[in-house]
Amino acid sequence: MSSKENDIRRYLQEKYDADSVKKKLETYSNAANMPLFDSQHPIEVKVQIRPDNRIKPALFKPDLEQPGHYLAHPQTIRAMRKDLFMGGEDFVDLEVIVQCHSCQQNLDLQFWKCCPYCEAELKID
Ligand SMILES: [Zn+2]
Repeated sequence: MSSKENDIRRYLQEKYDADSVKKKLETYSNAANMPLFDSQHPIEVKVQIRPDNRIKPALFKPDLEQPGHYLAHPQTIRAMRKDLFMGGEDFVDLEVIVQCHSCQQNLDLQFWKCCPYCEAELKID
């Protein structure tokens, strides 16, 4: 793992709200010395998600009645981060896997503010 990745991970574990992550990303450059994250032209992705009790926790299914929309369990919708932002190709670099202390599921802090399986608070060791 590169020192940049380690650095980002460490940072996310201390402070991982979207705004702080964005600020941190702006300090990095890629190999061509271009900003890694183009904050001047952010891409806002709005996804419509409708609650559906039949969907299993932590899953999203395409809404067949409304193309482009998704269905998810109400618990999943409560647990997901609403201010999720996409860092493009480097999205995967921001992965911070934590294990839910209550149900032992592995979860990525990028996406969840609490556990989508049991709604337990996600604690960082
Ligand atoms: Zn859990």
